Amino acid sequence: MRSLGVDVGATQLKLALLDGERLVEERQTPTRSEDGGPDAVFERIVDLGRGAGRVDSIGVALPGLFDADGNALLLPNLHGDWTGLPIRRRLEEGLGAPVRLINDGHAFVLAEATLGAGRGADDLVGIVCGTGIGGGLVLRGRLHLGAADRAGEFGHHTVVADGLRCPCGNRGCLELYAGARAIARAAGATSFEETLARARGGESIACGALERAGGLIGLALANVLVFVCPDRVVIGGGVAEAGPILLEPIRAAVAARARVAPLDRIDIVAADLGPSAGAVGAALWSAVAR
Ligand SMILES: [Zn+2]
Repeated sequence: MRSLGVDVGATQLKLALLDGERLVEERQTPTRSEDGGPDAVFERIVDLGRGAGRVDSIGVALPGLFDADGNALLLPNLHGDWTGLPIRRRLEEGLGAPVRLINDGHAFVLAEATLGAGRGADDLVGIVCGTGIGGGLVLRGRLHLGAADRAGEFGHHTVVADGLRCPCGNRGCLELYAGARAIARAAGATSFEETLARARGGESIACGALERAGGLIGLALANVLVFVCPDRVVIGGGVAEAGPILLEPIRAAVAARARVAPLDRIDIVAADLGPSAGAVGAALWSAVAR
């Protein structure tokens, strides 16, 4: 059975084609939501998806919230006014087949639990750090969606009381301080990639920006760990590509704060599936739902 997954990221649209649970094709193209807004992005998704040929199921991962009918509620990291747009219907019209939507954090954790660094864990917390910060839970081997499918919004943890105003309506959400754009801004760089290159070269401002972001991700994670006590945490996404420069301050903050959690029994590991995880998860989700 061939299942197609597309992950709508803030910077890239990623495609994964699975035959059963085997990845047979992956591709990506820039999202460029700043160029043409939603209409142009719909067109790019449809072009990408149609290139995969005949498939048995289609899943699309979205970087934010949507309702049970597939209408957009909050997609803060895409340019243009998406609120209320009938995303599922537009995609089904364009692709000529049923489409299952999934939150990108849920898609990430489902993929890592099934095929990646989360395999074998009973209770898994997934965090995906890119332009936005998403997350998800797999509990007793099952994706935990929560009421209205809203579980796992890791990026909207409050980490700074009375901090910056977030598009979600809260103040001080993690994503505003530890998302890729925020880290670049704190480092005085034009992109996250430039920040990372400068940090790897030992520049202290860039190192400090990554350390501060890691510390805040760790703070939020410590709150989850004392409450959920999973046996594994998988951290992925473009920001996590920084590797130890980010993971070390995360681990240090967790060790300092999650004092009552059995940290010797909770592994915190890097994701395995790379940038395709969200697309793979969307494909898996479409196949499960069939
Ligand atoms: Zn928020």
